Amino acid sequence: DKYKEGLSKTRSSFSGKINDLVARYRKVDEDFFEDLEEILISADVGVATVMDLIDELKMEVKRRNIKDSKEVKEVISEKLVDIYYGEEAEDVEQLNLNQNGLSVILFVGVNGVGKTTTIGKMAHQLKEEGKKVVMAAGDTFRAGAIEQLDVWGERVGVEVIKHNAGSDPAAVIFDGIQAARSRGADVLLCDTAGRLQNKVNLMNELSKVKKVISREIPEAPHEVLLVLDATTGQNAMSQAKTFSEATDVSGIVLTKLDGTAKGGIVLAIRNEMSIPVKYVGLGEKVTDLQAFDAHAFVYGLFA
Ligand code: GDP
Repeated sequence: DKYKEGLSKTRSSFSGKINDLVARYRKVDEDFFEDLEEILISADVGVATVMDLIDELKMEVKRRNIKDSKEVKEVISEKLVDIYYGEEAEDVEQLNLNQNGLSVILFVGVNGVGKTTTIGKMAHQLKEEGKKVVMAAGDTFRAGAIEQLDVWGERVGVEVIKHNAGSDPAAVIFDGIQAARSRGADVLLCDTAGRLQNKVNLMNELSKVKKVISREIPEAPHEVLLVLDATTGQNAMSQAKTFSEATDVSGIVLTKLDGTAKGGIVLAIRNEMSIPVKYVGLGEKVTDLQAFDAHAFVYGLFA
């Protein structure tokens, strides 16, 4: 499946290390757990999450009286899934969409993480589901962002509402809403600029955009999706912190998991930030966006 295919690079490094570990230790002892701890931390799982996981594993190993390291491998994947879901019901994360009226989705994130690509892929996916989609080129700051969204618009056959570079993003998104309404669209996907240098600026710009949206549609934006590049590891974590301080982030799209990303960042974000990962990017093609599914993800890493 898509997960197995897309995660092949991440898997060969992660699962390879776990297999080595299992081969090196026949018995499950304190040293085994120490080495496992190192592997998980180097896979970007995040120290706090690793500690939780190791504690859980030790308890489970004791409870089931597991002696053989091979058997532990299965428990590791079970616990990774458990850690991901925490107290919540196991379910594939769904987009929060308005079922009878226009839904507005705002995309935030720094330049280069794959924001435009993700919007293009999502436009395609929603269109395939039979929804009418409009995109708003709200990143008026980065040179080329408007043209790039336009290219995606043509590629997937979705209209792009745009102004000139340098214009007010809130005005573009306002026009996007009007256009989406007059076309009877189901979903408006809004790009935004990803300036992080100044948190106050970022906060002001995002709150202005959100104000314009909610003035038109009180319950909107229906989602604020933060796009993060999985290959940047702890950097992605710190972006998640900054953006969630600047605005209410409802979900995360983790891109480039097909690359040499270590994958553990998925768990770290969920466990340490309590923000669900809603989608993952597993490649550059239009079909390479997957709704996040922790089971498929973890088993994609181990398969
Ligand atoms: P933006 O600046 O955040 O809008 O980023 P772009 O959408 O322009 O993406 C930056 C680069 O990352 C482009 O070369 C994309 O093709 C690439 N990219 C985006 N998502 C993925 C992904 O899931 N996997 C891979 N391998 N590349 C991606």
